[in-house]
Amino acid sequence: MSIQSNLSTIKASLPEHVTLVAVSKTKPVSDLLQAYEAGQRIFGENKIQEMTEKWEQMPKDIQWHMIGHVQSNKVKFMAPYVTLIHGVDSLKLLQEINKQALKNNRIIDCLLQIYIAEEETKFGLDEKELNELLTSVEFKELKNIRILGLMGMATFTENQNQIKKEFTHLKSIFDSIQTLKTKNSELNTISMGMSGDYQLAIECGSTMVRIGSSIFGGR
Ligand SMILES: *Cc1c(COP(=O)(O)O)cnc(C)c1O
Repeated sequence: MSIQSNLSTIKASLPEHVTLVAVSKTKPVSDLLQAYEAGQRIFGENKIQEMTEKWEQMPKDIQWHMIGHVQSNKVKFMAPYVTLIHGVDSLKLLQEINKQALKNNRIIDCLLQIYIAEEETKFGLDEKELNELLTSVEFKELKNIRILGLMGMATFTENQNQIKKEFTHLKSIFDSIQTLKTKNSELNTISMGMSGDYQLAIECGSTMVRIGSSIFGGR
């Protein structure tokens, strides 16, 4: 199947309120251009250097989403152009993003990553840490970031019930923080669901899916 037909099949299956992030990590610019020509404008990458190289080469009306784990010392490389950072998991990282956004005279949109899986290797805040962050004075002072919502990754398993439980958990946390809205948060986005589980994620309340291999093929 071609990238173009994969894209149109997936797009046709998404409800209108769900945003598609085409995850293009490890794929060559020629593949991204095929998706671009088919109308895709939102791309997700998980390494800042790779994303920056692609940003330099690709048309400038693309929105670049950082979906991987972010090291503070690399934020400056994407601060001029990144549209949304999905994997923010600490106040310290948020402060660095704020600092680099200020240097670039812009506001950078972020999602807070929540730990919902039963896997040691995944990153994210738990519910208590999330609440502490959103209610802290230090957070409220950050004027060059905006929190659009939450991101989560389910456990890598065939067990649909477990995945559903984890997605439902993220949705319930998302609902519970609506009362904590601040000047620098909007809380309208739940980024959950990948190639293998995006339909289930949407049933559980996802508003943004991150799909790679079902569009571009295996990595
Ligand atoms: C790679 C990746 C995806 C896409 O995974 P596929 O299974 O290829 O759709 C989504 N989210 C994150 C955070 C990823 O690293």
